[in-house]
Amino acid sequence: MAPDSTLTLTRPDDWHLHLRDGAMLAHVVPLTARTFSRAIVMPNLDTPVTTTYSALAYRERILAALPHGTPFEPLMTLYLTDETTPDEVRRAKDSGQVHGVKYYPAGATTNSAFGVSNLKRCWPVLETMQAIGLPLLVHGEVTDPAVDLFDREKVFIDEQLIPLRAAFPALRVVFEHITTESAVQYVRDGARRDLLLAATITAHHLLYNRNALFQGGIRPHYYCRPILKRERHRRALLEAATSGNPRFFLGTDSAPHTRHAKESACGCAGCFTALNAMELYAEAFDSVGAIGRLEGFASFFGADFYGLPRNREKITLIRCNWTVPQELDLGGDTLVPLRAGETMAWKYID
Ligand SMILES: [Zn+2]
Repeated sequence: MAPDSTLTLTRPDDWHLHLRDGAMLAHVVPLTARTFSRAIVMPNLDTPVTTTYSALAYRERILAALPHGTPFEPLMTLYLTDETTPDEVRRAKDSGQVHGVKYYPAGATTNSAFGVSNLKRCWPVLETMQAIGLPLLVHGEVTDPAVDLFDREKVFIDEQLIPLRAAFPALRVVFEHITTESAVQYVRDGARRDLLLAATITAHHLLYNRNALFQGGIRPHYYCRPILKRERHRRALLEAATSGNPRFFLGTDSAPHTRHAKESACGCAGCFTALNAMELYAEAFDSVGAIGRLEGFASFFGADFYGLPRNREKITLIRCNWTVPQELDLGGDTLVPLRAGETMAWKYID
């Protein structure tokens, strides 16, 4: 095997992950824990995680779903609503287990119906978060149906993010799963300030543009929110991810839905990448000759932003072709991973 066929790097963390609950949780969490040491767990369950109490209970359910002895640390988040109080976010911070508060504009994605209708209502909460150093994690899309779906991230920056950051200049913000060159530019240009603003980038947004949705017919497993964009946006994301700028780090946004919920007349949004996440990222970085920059993006910058220690253990990927399974069994239903039935060029070795 040629020397460049093996890649050893510090064990990565996933800074944006959906684990769901119950039977689905039990099926998907081992896949993430196999590769990643920690993950920021999104709070958009059917009943959203809006209190510290429910976040800690959810954390226990995640730990209980892990195979015995798996050293995986779920990093919990709260779901911001119009009713969230300053006391609640203080309690969250004091728990030591809650690492951010997620802002979903009402209706932006899966289970976001409880989201914030008007951010101004949350100003006392944001003020507290700024004071105690608890990051706000934003789903950066406006939900106004009059705004074209492909423009919603750009409009969100102009209408919400810029005023928000002007009002709370010391609030730590993660612009989640960015998809456009506007977002790349906004985060990069904010980099002159202290490390207060960062962005996560998914593997699928690094590898695919919106053509993937329509290749030979409609392809529901490539449908996610924010939706895939034009090729020039994908290129801007890839450039940002591989630039070595610590404001950009890994967040898979892996989001499991059953096959029948995806392959339907009104299919759910979300790509399931927990099965092959690091292999997908390796392929993206490799495509521009930047595999050497993967470790910072996947293993260092997120931990630095969240003020957590970097992992010390190592993992190995090898360059080797393998075929992604067509589906994963959920016991009665199935889950289709991204790239199902297709070939991968890198393989994670346990
Ligand atoms: Zn998400």
